[in-house]
Parts: sequence; structure tokens; C-alpha cells
Amino acid sequence: MTALRRQTVFASLDQPRVWPATRGRPQPRRLDTGLDALPGVGVTLKRKLEKLGLRTIRDLLEHRPHRYESAVDEVAIAALGASSDEVAIAGEVLSVSKRPLRGRRTMVTARVTDGTATISAAWFNQPWLADQLQPGVHVRLRGKPGRYGFDVKSHDIGAGDATADFAPVYPASEEITPKRMRTLVTAALGHVSDYFDPLPAELREREGMPLKRDALFVIHRPESDGEAEAGRARLAFEELLLLQIGIARRAAERERTLAPSLGVPGELIARYRQTLPFALTPYQEQAVREIDADLERTVPMQRLLQGDVGSGKTVVALYAILRAVEHGRQGALMAPTETLAEQHFLTIEGICAELGVTCALLTSASPKKTRADALGADVVVGTHALIQEGVELRDLSVAVVDEQHRFGVEQRKALAQGRASHVLHMTATPIPRTLALTVYGDLSVSEIAKPPASRKPIVTSWIDEGQASAAYTRLTRLLREGRQAYVVCPLVEASETTLARAAEEEAERLRRAELREFRVGCLHGRLKPPERRDIMARFNARELDVLVATTVIEVGVDVPNATVMIVQEADRFGLAQLHQLRGRVGRGAEQSYCVLVSRAKEELTETARTRLQSLVDITDGFELAEIDLDLRGGGQLLGIRQHGVSDLRFARLRLDRPLLERARALAQSLGDPPGPLLDAVDELFGETDPEALS
Ligand code: ADP
Ligand code: MG
Repeated sequence: MTALRRQTVFASLDQPRVWPATRGRPQPRRLDTGLDALPGVGVTLKRKLEKLGLRTIRDLLEHRPHRYESAVDEVAIAALGASSDEVAIAGEVLSVSKRPLRGRRTMVTARVTDGTATISAAWFNQPWLADQLQPGVHVRLRGKPGRYGFDVKSHDIGAGDATADFAPVYPASEEITPKRMRTLVTAALGHVSDYFDPLPAELREREGMPLKRDALFVIHRPESDGEAEAGRARLAFEELLLLQIGIARRAAERERTLAPSLGVPGELIARYRQTLPFALTPYQEQAVREIDADLERTVPMQRLLQGDVGSGKTVVALYAILRAVEHGRQGALMAPTETLAEQHFLTIEGICAELGVTCALLTSASPKKTRADALGADVVVGTHALIQEGVELRDLSVAVVDEQHRFGVEQRKALAQGRASHVLHMTATPIPRTLALTVYGDLSVSEIAKPPASRKPIVTSWIDEGQASAAYTRLTRLLREGRQAYVVCPLVEASETTLARAAEEEAERLRRAELREFRVGCLHGRLKPPERRDIMARFNARELDVLVATTVIEVGVDVPNATVMIVQEADRFGLAQLHQLRGRVGRGAEQSYCVLVSRAKEELTETARTRLQSLVDITDGFELAEIDLDLRGGGQLLGIRQHGVSDLRFARLRLDRPLLERARALAQSLGDPPGPLLDAVDELFGETDPEALS
């Protein structure tokens, strides 16, 4: 078993371990064969596999194991001792028995011998094994010596590979066991020879990259962790290269499109700067300079403005919009939700009026007449309904899209299809610049790295439910001092209606209990826009002390006197979301507080604990974004989805940065990529399932 192992042995290509050496040419079409062609795959299993997104042989071969069993020693049963390490033993079954335990549990035990000694091996709750473990059958078992002799963790009966060193463990579901997945992959593995390699041979040699089929083979059958990782890296490199080529081509396409040049800033912009009660920060000035440079060109602007919540992006956004208005054209500000659109409208309406610029709010609730008027305004604020079909703005030349990660591909496409010539995307969940360039590669990036100087960092604490009453005591003290607060309701996986009801109930409970001496309002997604506006306005005017809310307040609400936030069941929220929520406080000169309430710390998963502790320790959004990326893994990055590309299967963005840099450099130096490579690019960019994106 432990013969000499060369690292990345497969790079030499000369000795395929299992699949028959290429008989004839590869036939990529065979990779599209449905999985029901594999032995043992019937209707039921086929359906279960589909739930995992696995339909074809190709899908299965590209289903990456998320880890591998560690290597263990195979030992003689006589030498087992009381070792606490996991080991493997192999032998023959002498006898088997099955008995019920307390509850509805069962235990199967088998006497196993390897000639050196005999041991009793135990399995729990797998009664069917008793039929398979017949006397005389050969078994290989992985596990530890334990209370019942040998506690089996995985086993092979007859031939098999479940107990092998580096046996792949697949992201399987509860319905399909890792063992089943392994059997299926084994049955499909011969088809790796049907892969053409999209990477030109010359490039592969220069980069020291193995063939695609060898890489696919070793991720399923590695002989070491190093080998598995080298295979993954090869596949990741290809993925990143295709992504970069695709992005470079899009950027080139855009360079050929025309947009009106908006010249240099003029009189309206000068008045705008005077109207603002503050001077722009150096970061804002820098962003504004970059935007000006874009708008002067006749190539459509595609810029991403990254900045933490409260860093002052809206001021910059309005600047860009006014640059269009200055030329008699139209600007638009688009938000993902109606609450946010209304909030933006309230923020900029006043300034627009002061400048003599007409500004209108357009939502799905706007009556026809208002809608027609709105379409003619200088500045239009609305949700993505704005860019849906049928809505024709007068002369839109600068569009600002807020919280762009929430926009699906379809909306972005609509936007790109000539409705707005210059586009500024804003996001408050910044990602590191190199990554931004990868996933939004055809966007230029501006950053507001620091908020306006007057801000005090928010003091964040994390407590158990058990201590929650202490938090409310502190809250009431601050409320008595005249501050305002948010209480965020738990995130339950439920409909908007259920969420709304939960929020109402919680508000009612607080009105009777902890907060009975205060005025408590409730904000959720089921309220009609006028009701919602009314509550927001009352909170703004300090007619309400506390706002109990669902995550509808996540973005956009801006009340400087609100300095406390309590987030209930905070462990249910994602890191980025919690950071966004927290950004609702800390907007004024007063010290602000955020209290995260969770279940008892021992009950939480490791990741949940890391998330919450990170929020306590860190206030910088860029730093938190890096941690979030680590916790979630790159493939899930929303940015990729909304780029129109399906999840990356092999690349791990943070880890693979060096690979990424190489892929980028290569994509730029390639000039006209060869045909097979281009076909692969089209496939990657065309593969998107719009259903999966929203
Ligand atoms: P973001 O959109 O990035 O979350 P906003 O644009 O809403 O942030 O700004 C947050 C708050 O900071 C607003 O109240 C805004 O008026 C204020 N602000 C913005 N820029 C400055 C600045 N340069 N100096 C002082 N305050 C500013
Ligand atoms: Mg904002």
C-alpha cells in the first residue's frame, strides 16, 4: 500500500492507473450522457442526483470532493492495543449478530480475524449490514479500538475503496451517502479520457500543467493530499483563465460601444459642492476624480464604488447623477428594495430641490399618472422596476445601482442593453481589490476606504440569550437620555408574511414588557409603502423611540440619533449582513452600541462563533469581507453569480490568488485565444441558469 509516492505523479502522464489507455480519440459528447446510463442508477437515484445538480457524466466527474480521508496505518489485529488513533484492519468475518439497544437503536457486531487475532467489530443503527457480513466475507475496516471492541467508522465489504487512504469525501446530501457517490464516480471515471484539453499543449507545458483528464482523475483518486491539491489547482487555473479571457473580451466589446461624453464638471456641480454642509473627504474626492475621467470619455462608464456602510457613497453617487443633469440629460438611482429607494429619495430630494433639479420616486406602487411624470424628471429614484421592460426613461445617461450584489444578471443585462450609458455600481460589502477585479473584471474600482473623520467606532458586544435582560436595561437607560434604537428580529426561513407577523408580535411583546414606557414602531416588508414611509418619517422626527424591524432596515436607513441596535438571534445572520445591519447606527457624533444576542455559545457552530467574535473585534468592512470570504469559500461569492457565470467549481478565490494573477496576465497576453479555448469560454459564460441567480 505504501509504495513510493511521487508528488504529482500524474504530471508524467505515462501510466494511467485505472482507465484504459486512450482507445481512439476522446469523444466529448459522451460526457453529456445522462447518469441513468450508469449501472444501478434508477429513477429515484437519478432524481436525488439532480437535486445536487448532477445530471450528466460530466457533472459527476466535475463534482469536487470537499475533503479526503486522512491516511491511516493498516495494522495487525494482534497489534491493535488501546491506541486512540484511527487505524485500518483487514480480515475475514467469522460470525455476525444483531441486537436492539435502548430507544430504537440497533447494534451489529461481527467477529473478524486476520490470522493474528480476533476482534469484535461494532456498527450502530445499520441493521441491514447483518445480511452482508456473512461468515467468510473479506472486510477492511477503518476505526478505533473502543468500548465494544472495534468501533467502525467506515468499511469495505469485499472489494471497495471507502477505507482507502485519501478516499474522497463528496459534498453529498443526506439522501446520497459519500460511499454511494464514490461508487458512482468510480463507474464514471473511465470517461475522463473523453475530455479534450482546452489548454493549448504549448501553454500547458510552459505552465507545467497536467492534462485535464489526469487532473480530474487524481481529484477522485489521489495517492496523497499533495496530488489531490495539484489536480485541483490545474482545474482551478483553467477555470480562472476562462473567466479572465471572457471578462477581457467583454471589456473590449464595451470599448467599442459609444456613450455621450459629459465633458468636465460645470456650474451645477459647483453649486452642489457649496450646498453640502461638509467638504468631501480625500477618498470621496478621489472617487469623484475617477468618475469625472470616465464620464469625459465616449466609452460607457462601468465603475464599482466600494465603501463601508456610512462611508459617504451616496454623496458621490449624487455627484455622478448631477453630471448627467448638467447636460440636460437624466440620471437615475436604483435600489434593491422599495424601502431603500424611498430612503434614498428622502435623502436627495431636499438637495435636488435646493439646486432646482426635479427629482421623482418611481416604485411598483406608483400610479400610472405619477409614473408618467416621474419618467420625465431630471433625477429618477426607484427600484429595479425602473429598468424592467416597458419603462422608457427620457434620456438616461448616468445610472447608479445601489447594493449591486442584489441585482440579478437579468437586471444587469437590461441595464447594459443601452438603457443607460454610464453606470456606477455601489456596494457596501466591499471585497478585496484583486478579487473585485476578478469577479467584476470588466468594472473599474473606486474605493472609499475610510468614513468621514467624525465617526466614533461602534462598540459591539455579544451576549447569550440568558443575559438579554441586562441589554434591555442598558437600552432603556440610553432611551431615557433621548437616544433612539433598533431591535432586529430573528431571521427565520419563512415567508415575508410570517416574518412580518413575528416582528409585529415581538413589537407587541416589547411594548408590554421591557419597553413599556417607550414608543415602539414596527417596520417590515408587508407594510404598504405609505405606511412604511410614515413609520420612517415618525422615527426620523423622534416620534418613535424604538424601531422593531426585520432586515428591511439592512440598508439605507439613516437616523443619526439612533445609536443602539440589538440584534436578536444574531447567530442566524451572515457576517456581511450583520455588518450591514450594524451600519445603521454610528451615524452621528454620539457613541453608538450594537448588541448581538445569540443562543448559548456552546450550542453554536465554530463558524457562527467566529462570525460573531469577528464583529466584536473588527469594525472595518474590508477586513470583515476577507474573513467572510474565508468562512464561505470563494465559489459561493455572489459576485460571480451576478457576473453571469455559474459558481466556480475548483477555484478558491482567496487561496488561489497567485493562480489568479497568472491567469489574468496570461489572458491579457494571449491576444487572440485559440478556438478550443474560446469555445470553453463561451460555455462557461453561457452556462448560466437564470433561475439560480436571483
Ligand atoms: P453610504 O451610502 O456609504 O452608506 P452615506 O452617503 O449615506 O453613506 O453617508 C453617511 C452619512 O455621512 C450621511 O449622513 C452623510 O450626510 C454623511 N457624510 C457623507 N460624506 C461626508 C463628509 N465628507 N463629511 C461629513 N459627513 C459626511
Ligand atoms: Mg447608503
